[in-house]
Amino acid sequence: MKRIFPVIVVLISLSLVGIIAIQFSWFKNMIILKQEQLQARVEEAATVVANELSSTASSAPYFKIPRKPNISLLPEDATYGMMPTLSQHYSEFEIREKLEKVFEEKNLKDVQFEFAITANSNMYNIELQSKDFLKESADTVHNKIKIIGILPETGSDMEGLVPYEHLILIVPDFKTQVWESIIWMIVASAFFTLIIIAAFFLTVRTLLRQKKLSEIKTDFINNMTHEFKTPLATISLAVDALKNEKVQHNIEKMNYFSGIIKEENKRMNKHVETILQAALLDKQELKISLVPIHATDLIKNVVNNNNLRLQDKGGRVELNLKATNDVIDADENHFTNMLSNLIDNSIKYSKENHPLVIKVHTSSTHKHLQIKIEDNGIGMNKETVKRIFEKFYRAHTGNIHNVKGFGLGMSYVRTVVDEHKGKIKVDSTLGKGSCFTVEIPLAENGKS
Ligand code: ADP
Repeated sequence: MKRIFPVIVVLISLSLVGIIAIQFSWFKNMIILKQEQLQARVEEAATVVANELSSTASSAPYFKIPRKPNISLLPEDATYGMMPTLSQHYSEFEIREKLEKVFEEKNLKDVQFEFAITANSNMYNIELQSKDFLKESADTVHNKIKIIGILPETGSDMEGLVPYEHLILIVPDFKTQVWESIIWMIVASAFFTLIIIAAFFLTVRTLLRQKKLSEIKTDFINNMTHEFKTPLATISLAVDALKNEKVQHNIEKMNYFSGIIKEENKRMNKHVETILQAALLDKQELKISLVPIHATDLIKNVVNNNNLRLQDKGGRVELNLKATNDVIDADENHFTNMLSNLIDNSIKYSKENHPLVIKVHTSSTHKHLQIKIEDNGIGMNKETVKRIFEKFYRAHTGNIHNVKGFGLGMSYVRTVVDEHKGKIKVDSTLGKGSCFTVEIPLAENGKS
């Protein structure tokens, strides 16, 4: 599994790059092909119209030029003269109509064009032109220009002559028009490719998370084994001691060893509770019943309960409970646990050989109660601060390994704060200390 995963990621990434490259070259070819296709169809359409016009031209009556009497050798009724120009025959609108009709037949309905009829292939000898013809004829870079001779029809009197008029057709912004015809395809394929890339990215991320999670779980099991093994070993030793006859006759020693058993028992109980809390969080079964409570009382209680441990470590708590309004809707049990976890961590992650000072500070705005718990302990780096509320997360640096835990406390704290519709913020500097700020909305109806 460890080796397969990177191989799969590399293979899929390469395939994605390959597919994108192929699509790219495919679209490039398609554009060239489309251009050629469009050009051919436009030319075809123009030729059809030119032919149509040429037949009109051929069947047009000749202008009669009055014959000079007596000089002519031609029969009485013979006529000679010149053919009328197309511009005398058709208006610009009629020619446009003809072109549009043929364009539609050739599936070129959306193609825009400009046209002109000239007396010969000189583009500036114009007899008739569409509105923007002159403007577009200047731009030979972007526009496609097609000049088709309007030859007299075969079988007509004028057969074999050089074309006497020309139809000039311009497709403005030729490339843009080609692009427009396939842009939706490019957009759709880009869209689907993006979806594939996003799905791939999400899959990889999920896999990485799963991997991390399984590592974390292994860590957790190791931790838990350790956490239970130590008290069990201690209890076992204490029981052995209690079995000793000498000890059995010494009340002091009996008390000492049974005290150890009781302590270790308590410790294990606490562990079980922590794990149970985590299990509850997993199932979203945290049953919270909110009642208006004075937060200051809860804080004082928690501090009192932890005082012994604190003194043991040579630390002290500074209380600065200045909140004028401290009534919040809270679940007494969970809220106390939450505060207890925060204080407990401050004690657990204190610096050795450095007097621990925990400052607990409260203040209130008109809507919120703010509780700050600040310590001068070992602090955390940025990565830890970011991930502290993740379940099972424990910092892996420094001497933290000496402190045992399951990495569940802070995720519980976060859940409880969330359940109270509050917010929690962490500021910490490695080596200096940490500050946790909890903000809980004040009870709606004020004081209880
Ligand atoms: P545990 O304490 O069981 O490891 P927590 O969820 O309570 O788990 O804490 C997660 C991690 O956050 C700890 O392992 C520690 O690295 C860090 N941490 C929490 N509180 C503090 C604190 N007050 N000072 C320094 N680090 C802390």
